[in-house]
Amino acid sequence: MAPQVETNLSSITVLTCSKCGKEHDYEILQRVSSCCAMPLLAHYDVSGPFSKEDLQNREGTMWRYREVLPVLNETYKVSLGEGCTPMLDLKNLADAYGFDNLKLKDEGQNPTGSFKARGLSMAISKALELGTEGCIIPTAGNAGVAMAAYCAKANLPAIVVMPRHTPKAFKEECYWYGAEIHLIDGLIHDCAAEVRKLNQDGHLLDVSTLKEPYRLEGKKTMGYEIAEQLQWQVPDVILYPAGGGTGLIGIWKAFQEMIALGWLDKEIRLPRMVAVQAENCRPLVDTFQGVHANSQNYNGLPTLANGLAVPRPLGEPLMLQVLEQSGGTAISISEDDMVEGVRELSRKEGLFVAPEGAAVWMAARQLLKQGWIQPQEQVLLLNTGSGQKYMENIEGRYIG
Ligand SMILES: *Cc1c(COP(=O)(O)O)cnc(C)c1O
Ligand SMILES: [Zn+2]
Repeated sequence: MAPQVETNLSSITVLTCSKCGKEHDYEILQRVSSCCAMPLLAHYDVSGPFSKEDLQNREGTMWRYREVLPVLNETYKVSLGEGCTPMLDLKNLADAYGFDNLKLKDEGQNPTGSFKARGLSMAISKALELGTEGCIIPTAGNAGVAMAAYCAKANLPAIVVMPRHTPKAFKEECYWYGAEIHLIDGLIHDCAAEVRKLNQDGHLLDVSTLKEPYRLEGKKTMGYEIAEQLQWQVPDVILYPAGGGTGLIGIWKAFQEMIALGWLDKEIRLPRMVAVQAENCRPLVDTFQGVHANSQNYNGLPTLANGLAVPRPLGEPLMLQVLEQSGGTAISISEDDMVEGVRELSRKEGLFVAPEGAAVWMAARQLLKQGWIQPQEQVLLLNTGSGQKYMENIEGRYIG
């Protein structure tokens, strides 16, 4: 074999069904598990010679963690510089509301303006490595834009299916990347039904949230970055806007991996994870509170936070596990509160965030007021996207 210095550093070992644990081969394209039709989880050999000191001279993208990423051969890496987003101190808001330590990781600074770049960079790289004719996705907006961009870079055809009411900027950007767009009257699960119709013969890779194993692996790099940026410590509380849930599940997965790697102390107290949803679409909050057994028949309404309009997330059992294991909670935020959140983060911190990120800030405010968060705790907000594409949703509402 030709020498492959630097090209085969992944220590991936196997994929397992998240429901029953059945093993699946990582050397072929996989979708959901063959046994239970549930998400597949990637595992790595953490006994290898990979240490956190190795990171010192690595590139400033999520690919710095390549030993715990699934791409085997670096030549298939499709990157636009995703990851390594800044963690900012929200001093003004902390002072105004009585937090001692309030930070925000700004995922809006990723390529294509959201953290979806991490997941799609990974999924498209892996699709390229394993061979596919093209990719298709049902999306509330940001995932479609990211998929279109990475497919353009990878020279792969892209089909994006999104709700007709999605703000124009998302659609326009997809067209610029050369994707084929289908507009649907409904929410993301209606788009998913259309994807199944368009891709009946399976010639395209469906990169829907958690229907292939690798978007999760891209999203988990947020967890690695959080620990690295805090000098291998973790916050007391992390708040995350949960739609399909890949970020929530991925960050938690990263913490478990870092404990196995010995990068985090075995005795470390991991953060309480908070899933933030919209009042208009709160399937996970209702399941968490026992309103229904699961969200399989839940009907949501559209929300200003397009990324949160996911009425029936496939990863719900995994999200509930994270909330339970971490001692976390789930909370929903009204449309008006999201607008107030966008206003406050803009005026007090100079951050024009997506309504999803604004929801997270408003959730922190509410949980502090309720006493669920203590003033001295270190609180980390995840802003998952830039506000710029949502202009139509919030136009003119800076007054109030
Ligand atoms: C997709 C999206 C979310 C939800 O992410 P999941 O991984 O599906 O939970 C949150 N915020 C923004 C801006 C998004 O685009
Ligand atoms: Zn199974």
